[in-house]
Amino acid sequence: MVRAEGVRKHFGRLDVLKGIDLTVERGQVCCLLGPSGSGKSTFLRCINHLEKVDGGRLTVDGELVGYRQQGNRLHELREREVAARRRDIGMVFQRFNLFPHLTALENVTEAPVKVGGVSKADAREHAHALLERVGLGDRAHHYPAELSGGQQQRVAIARALAMKPKLMLFDEPTSALDPELVGDVLDVMRQLAADGMTMVVVTHEIGFAREVGDTAVFMDEGVVVEAGDPRQVLADPREERTRAFLSKVL
Ligand code: ATP
Ligand code: MG
Repeated sequence: MVRAEGVRKHFGRLDVLKGIDLTVERGQVCCLLGPSGSGKSTFLRCINHLEKVDGGRLTVDGELVGYRQQGNRLHELREREVAARRRDIGMVFQRFNLFPHLTALENVTEAPVKVGGVSKADAREHAHALLERVGLGDRAHHYPAELSGGQQQRVAIARALAMKPKLMLFDEPTSALDPELVGDVLDVMRQLAADGMTMVVVTHEIGFAREVGDTAVFMDEGVVVEAGDPRQVLADPREERTRAFLSKVL
């Protein structure tokens, strides 16, 4: 579903991604770990067309991200084409970025109605089912300010799912939450994984990565230092840099 080969990204003179190689198969959960500034968010943003890749090859579901290939030549995608591709990818950020003036239900129906061309009635029905799925069936008419951080984050997940994405990206979805709210969000993500969603999850929740991840990838300074079975990478890393990082977060 996601294939990165030598993916590079720089901001001015700062090389942030220095050749990322990584594969996420359909239906798999890839957990991405690494110190602050290692390029995890930048990599997710590249997958989701929020940043442009400078070098290497990045594909989602077999399609080159950001470009269209014609013969040997690459053409940058037009805005409309980028928007169409992004519809297939759901993203959940660290800070819940719900629309504050819309209820939970309206947050979830917004995109399907406005950009998905779904009828209001169908969108509402689907949204109720999604809110049910994330355990918020009884909160549909609450505004974000009336919900806890964990509830808001679950609405954000429902909202991302409303566009029926084939890939979900999570960027530290629980790190801004009070500890007692983390579990409910991870449970929703665990269920999503069990339902077969392909997911790339930046997280420092080692327990989650070990239980739910099909692969764990440790990034540092813009490169993949180590990747593999989470039970191996997280319990018995081969690389000293991985060891040093894990000893800090565990
Ligand atoms: P954290 O764990 O703190 O979220 P991260 O691994 O997600 O870190 P990134 O946010 O990808 O790291 O940032 C990697 C590097 O790129 C950092 O040095 C950051 O300052 C830099 N960077 C990110 N976005 C930009 C930007 N738009 N312009 C310039 N520099 C940027
Ligand atoms: Mg980040």
